[in-house]
Amino acid sequence: MKPLEYVCPRTVAEAAAAHAAHPEARYLGGGTNLVDLMRLGVERPELLVDITRLPLDRIEELPDGGLRIGATVRNSDLAAHPLVRARRAVLSQAVLSGASGQLRNVATTAGNLLQRTRCGYFHDLGRACNKRVPGSGCAALEGVNRDHAVLGHSAHCVATHPSDLAVALAALDAVVELAGPGGGRGVPATEFHRLPGDRPERDTVIEPGELITGVLLPPLPDGTVTRYRKARERASHAFALASVAAVVQLEDGAVRHVAVAFGGLAHRPWRARRTEAALLGTAPTAESVARAVEAELAEAVPLRDNAYKVTLARDLARDVLGALTAP
Ligand code: SF4
Repeated sequence: MKPLEYVCPRTVAEAAAAHAAHPEARYLGGGTNLVDLMRLGVERPELLVDITRLPLDRIEELPDGGLRIGATVRNSDLAAHPLVRARRAVLSQAVLSGASGQLRNVATTAGNLLQRTRCGYFHDLGRACNKRVPGSGCAALEGVNRDHAVLGHSAHCVATHPSDLAVALAALDAVVELAGPGGGRGVPATEFHRLPGDRPERDTVIEPGELITGVLLPPLPDGTVTRYRKARERASHAFALASVAAVVQLEDGAVRHVAVAFGGLAHRPWRARRTEAALLGTAPTAESVARAVEAELAEAVPLRDNAYKVTLARDLARDVLGALTAP
């Protein structure tokens, strides 16, 4: 049996210090992903830093109309919060499209962002995986890669990130707040998760000892509409094959603000900047929306088994953007 230490700090500074002092430490929130990975032997921490007693469990409206979501806010509470449902439906819809009610009752905001890929080879200790064992290879390249990435992948890893919440946050221009031994910093949600490159073992830009303390959502202008749609193998309890989060504001029929992010296609939420640039300032039609979506998905490089994802993402994005830009 592998010895495991457990601490339950009461302040953010204590938590960050405990984590920073131990190279094999992991933060424990709801544990819905970490504990599964520990059972499989994929994660083998020597220290668990329980952050559930930290004062990070609130959703606050900010004076400018923005919203601050604490790191340990449970997914169910986030999805049900009146200010989220009223002004940022995309966030509520994304959270409710993931996992089960029971899991959402314990899973936290930070834990949702930090969950690991569901690549089957990552979970199989008998198969090569650069993310689990750097330098060991990638079994998915020649294996079954139906669920894997079509954008931003590398010769070292073709995994996708499984979070729905992260996709909505990318479209909302959220900022992930981090605290660490060296102080605090904010990282745009679009840059929080990494592309795999030659370091696929690193999912995010978090440095050792850093702790997510919350997520900051900027204010949205009046009239902004949002939506999340997800395609999956079955109606519930399944990860995205492809998903899209969109945030749109129209003024006099023209697009004044648009943000689009894809999920299920890459190692991180994929912000569709080409689509946005093509739509901004225009009065959209079904044809121009289709062209704008195509401009982004032309970048896709499907693997042997997953060209269907491009079609799926194209249809989802056209549908969502068509609905949000309809007169
Ligand atoms: Fe591992 Fe990434 Fe390859 Fe999956 S795709 S086997 S996570 S290196």
